[in-house]
Amino acid sequence: MVIVILFAIVAIFLLPSFINKISTNNSEAYGRVRVDRYKDFNDKHLSYAKRLGIKPFNSEKAYRQEKDELVSDGKLKKISGGNNYVVNKLGHSHPYLVPKAAKLLDDIGKRFSKKLQEKGKGNYYFRVSSLRRTGESQKSLGRSNGNEASNSSHLYGTTFDIAYKNVIKKPLPWIKKEVADASVIKLLSEAIGELRGEGRCLVVTEYKEKCFHITVMN
Ligand SMILES: [Zn+2]
Repeated sequence: MVIVILFAIVAIFLLPSFINKISTNNSEAYGRVRVDRYKDFNDKHLSYAKRLGIKPFNSEKAYRQEKDELVSDGKLKKISGGNNYVVNKLGHSHPYLVPKAAKLLDDIGKRFSKKLQEKGKGNYYFRVSSLRRTGESQKSLGRSNGNEASNSSHLYGTTFDIAYKNVIKKPLPWIKKEVADASVIKLLSEAIGELRGEGRCLVVTEYKEKCFHITVMN
């Protein structure tokens, strides 16, 4: 009897993640995804990153040692998702940003949400695919450009990437669907462009990585 009850409890807890797993494999596509071409130069990203960000860490170890203090001092904020975005499983970065960049990310979410409502679309989440990196994690990305490690604004906590390959649709709280819906992704691209136009951020459309590389300005 006890075993049956235990089994039922485990099943109740595991079922949502099981459904989740199945449904994320079902990605759907609607229309051809086209995004705006933003091309703010990297040196501009870097100059804002150096001005508004925190000092870069070369090693993962040094970063781990100081991270908690930076968070308790209010210099870094943990990013775990918001009303209209989710954070991807991160391989080469840490889910932390300086508060101004965290606010920008929330504001992009709000603008995206407003546009979805105006167009009568359902509930969609965009995916944040990279946040703060250390010198070590930047190098482990294995990019061919040898200067990239020292030249990336991702080192300063001011910069994040938003994927545009697809967005997430959640018809029910435990069901996630990756949807490459061109009309929804266009709204995401426009939301980012509006904040860029308002002087809030610098943006590069990275076609190879299928993401917007965004640095906070204000
Ligand atoms: Zn990036």
